[in-house]
Amino acid sequence: MNHVYLLLGSNEGNRVQWLQSALDGLHRFATLEKQSAVYETAAWGLESQPDFLNMVIEIKTSLSAPELLVEIQQLETELERQRTIVWGPRTLDIDILFFNDEVIQTDHLIVPHPGIPVRRFTLEPLCEIAPHFLHPSYGKTVQQLLDYCTDHLETKRLGMINAIVSTR
Ligand code: ATP
Ligand code: CA
Ligand code: CA
Repeated sequence: MNHVYLLLGSNEGNRVQWLQSALDGLHRFATLEKQSAVYETAAWGLESQPDFLNMVIEIKTSLSAPELLVEIQQLETELERQRTIVWGPRTLDIDILFFNDEVIQTDHLIVPHPGIPVRRFTLEPLCEIAPHFLHPSYGKTVQQLLDYCTDHLETKRLGMINAIVSTR
């Protein structure tokens, strides 16, 4: 069994509903082990767009990393993601953060996800469920990466997904 951390994000439509639909869909190919709270962050990269909701989950799956990427992209497509603008608004984005302690670099897949150390919106929820996980290429724990993170875009912890309600 492979031990994987995923980042889920949404900034379009009913954001909580998209995250919940992703959690429901993931059951087809993975078991949910842990989930962080949902965090709200101003959009990163391209800033003139609605705020994001993000959460991090830990899953177990028998799929290989490339197989998992295919399933994730299939799920994104089912959940009406439109691939138009790079870093633009999306109903649902799923990124593979860590896949065991593997380092993968192909044309389609880079693991650990290169955004981890520079994105507070990823580190905050990740640190909630995996503070002691060691980044395989940096040799630092998630907690240490968060302590040294220079991204000051504020993230707000809203609460666990089943306890929050969102209208957009
Ligand atoms: P970012 O990856 O910087 O957060 P993004 O999520 O907006 O940007 P996408 O348009 O969702 O980018 O994905 C572009 C491509 O990134 C995907 O088609 C996929 O092949 C590739 N990719 C590379 N590494 C990963 C990874 N660790 N998890 C998910 N996709 C990845
Ligand atoms: Ca992403
Ligand atoms: Ca993505």
